[in-house]
Amino acid sequence: MTALRCPMCPEVLEGEGVALTHSLRDHLSDVHGMADLCMDPERLRSSPPAVLEGYVGVTCPVCAASIAAADDRLLSEGLRAHFGNVHGIRSSSLLERLRR
Ligand SMILES: [Zn+2]
Ligand SMILES: [Zn+2]
Repeated sequence: MTALRCPMCPEVLEGEGVALTHSLRDHLSDVHGMADLCMDPERLRSSPPAVLEGYVGVTCPVCAASIAAADDRLLSEGLRAHFGNVHGIRSSSLLERLRR
């Protein structure tokens, strides 16, 4: 079971592979109003994260890229960095920190 922190808020989502990707997608669309940004659930279902043995991973719900890391914490950081660098989406708490 992988515990993944939402890239937008402190909420932790739990799951494995495609199920984790779907939890993240549901969370982003329901809680953060990102339904239009996220991919179709059916397409995500056929895009399990490509992850090496011993690594944890999730599929980005926006672009279907595989994000993998050695542990849950690094995966959460990797996803946050992916959202910021690739999609220009940054959590408000991070923005607040940058403004100071
Ligand atoms: Zn969130
Ligand atoms: Zn992405």
